[in-house]
Amino acid sequence: MKRAVVANGRRVEYTLIQSSRQNVLFQALPEAGLRVYAPKYLRLRDVDDMVRQRADQLLDMQRQSEARLEADRRAHPVTDGSPILIEGKRCVLRLRQGSRRTGKLVGDEYHLTLPCPDSDADVRAAIRATLSTVALKRIRERLDYYGPRIGRAPGRVAIREQKSRWGSCSRKGNLNFNWKLIMAPPQALDYVVVHELCHLHEFNHSPRFWALVAAQLPDYAVWKKWLKAHGEDLYL
Ligand SMILES: [Zn+2]
Repeated sequence: MKRAVVANGRRVEYTLIQSSRQNVLFQALPEAGLRVYAPKYLRLRDVDDMVRQRADQLLDMQRQSEARLEADRRAHPVTDGSPILIEGKRCVLRLRQGSRRTGKLVGDEYHLTLPCPDSDADVRAAIRATLSTVALKRIRERLDYYGPRIGRAPGRVAIREQKSRWGSCSRKGNLNFNWKLIMAPPQALDYVVVHELCHLHEFNHSPRFWALVAAQLPDYAVWKKWLKAHGEDLYL
């Protein structure tokens, strides 16, 4: 659940994860932002208060985690031959210089062409952009497959750079997906596709909603858990 508080004029956004745990845990992730794990019985405004009281410390943790990721990126530039995770498989990046930016999965290699293949930032941006296109194509294929089975067709479908969400469904029936799903195993991508399609029937997370998901994917819980456990490893 997304939450935000204001402390000393600064906005602190965080994702609240409620569980059966007994204590509160604060975590800063460079791409997913701040996370607060809290027991279910704790009231939302009490969690907000805890975040507000620790605002300086939490914003500091966030800055440090982003700095660590930046340092890690500098230490490990993405270059020809670098490993890259696609559809849950470890692939090898093949870099070429060319006038147009294109990306193509060829067996276990990802062939990336771009005008300036020397700058790490350009290479990363090109991977994101081209993998987003690959992701959209794959997601449309899976929507075409599951849509008729679920009996719903989405409105607009788009890829968004979302920090900590895999997909979302609007009241109008438009669906958004996170480009990083293309790095996850295909079953995890299917789970998110089915999840969002089922919201076109049930705009909630009721038992009826989960029964619709389970009717398509009996083992959906495995992939739901997988994304929770490994989602943070999917970054570039
Ligand atoms: Zn949902």
